Amino acid sequence: MRALTGIKPTATPHIGNLLGMIEPALRLQDTHDAYYFIADYHALTTLHDREKMRQYSREVAATWLALGLDPARTVLFAQSDVPEVAELAWLLACVTGVGALERAHAYKAAQEAGKDINVGTFFYPVLMAADILAYDSDHVPVGKDQKQHVEMARDMALAFNHRFGEVFVVPEPLIRDEVATIPGLDGRKMSKSYGNAVEVWLPSKQLRKKLMGIVTDSKGVDDVKDPDTCNVFSLYKLFATPDQVAALAARYRAPGLGYGHAKQELFEVVDAQLAPARERYEALLAEPDRLDAVLADGAHRARRLALSVLGRARDACGLGRAPRWGAP
Ligand code: AMP
Repeated sequence: MRALTGIKPTATPHIGNLLGMIEPALRLQDTHDAYYFIADYHALTTLHDREKMRQYSREVAATWLALGLDPARTVLFAQSDVPEVAELAWLLACVTGVGALERAHAYKAAQEAGKDINVGTFFYPVLMAADILAYDSDHVPVGKDQKQHVEMARDMALAFNHRFGEVFVVPEPLIRDEVATIPGLDGRKMSKSYGNAVEVWLPSKQLRKKLMGIVTDSKGVDDVKDPDTCNVFSLYKLFATPDQVAALAARYRAPGLGYGHAKQELFEVVDAQLAPARERYEALLAEPDRLDAVLADGAHRARRLALSVLGRARDACGLGRAPRWGAP
């Protein structure tokens, strides 16, 4: 079975990315042939700053490695190092109705927000389908916000296969219920664009400050509180052990616990879990040559596979098999 997923280098990764996608994807390394990429072509729909693109791309690569991606087993690469996905996106665009793209949540949300939408943003689901189909992916670990896009990739695979024969593997999204949507500081889905994100690699002091900013109701220390409707507790549950979760829930339900105390408890469990990886992350960022070498090797392995899949697709729809199908 092959797993594939990507993350956009549009900001430093946040805890929603970590719990919703990165950790589940890392677990799949034991059971799957894994291909994980830095979605820089996708980032280009919104990020138009060369230095930031380079910096965030390195940060995403270092994040994967610091958290346990094993480059000997798993292929880690930059999306744009396999330019064949852009060509494959064209082939898929030719079997996709405009109506399907108009129904995509991300596009509709950008429209409702009155954003100035470029063609890249409209086309995004087609490029994402090409990312998935180019590697014969069976499983796509993602957060719930990406479910519809993976379903669109399935539809495109089926439409192409129906017209031209069995070319593409039809992928399935893998979404873990307990981490499908990680809440941000204000309780809405954690997202860079909502300004409610907690970045994974904040130094301890800044991490604490950020977590102290979680929005709560106005109950005081002597009031009993409901852990199940509290943003602090929702995050705590994701980092603490079952015993710790039960103990804090009991303290919520009795007088004497202020939200400040709960936030401190949250900070301690999050910091304890992230601190060792944070050191590895900083060390990796200080070695850009090492990151580049991992990405170059990943690009080579990813491209070899994408070229053979694209060759199959071109052949199926009557396009020539250009001589480069044997490369690299
Ligand atoms: P992106 O940064 O948009 O490329 O997202 C990378 C991955 O993180 C995708 O699989 C998203 O579904 C996932 N993700 C982003 N935000 C959240 C969240 N708040 N909860 C769960 N998963 C998320």
